Amino acid sequence: MSDDDICINISGISHPILCGTCKAKVAFIGEANVDGGDVGCVDCGNIADVQQVAAMAVEYAKDEGQLMLNRMARDTAKNSKIMTFNGQTSHNKAHRFVVDMKL
Ligand SMILES: [Zn+2]
Repeated sequence: MSDDDICINISGISHPILCGTCKAKVAFIGEANVDGGDVGCVDCGNIADVQQVAAMAVEYAKDEGQLMLNRMARDTAKNSKIMTFNGQTSHNKAHRFVVDMKL
């Protein structure tokens, strides 16, 4: 991870924002300006205002956090004779920008 990566902070850990289409790290388009610059993936033409990109990345991270809990509950239920789990375990909508949740 380089200093140029555009990251959001989740629980004190910084995670790079990725293009939701090709999963490449997003970068500033033109001048790097966290207050109003454009950020995105040139290859996919997936570009938006940096604040919008950050908001979409946070939304993805929230969804992913919930899904991770659901997957754990599902796996627990799988090993249990008395528990069943019917919740959502994968994203049900497309995210333009996602977050690399791996550390
Ligand atoms: Zn892309």
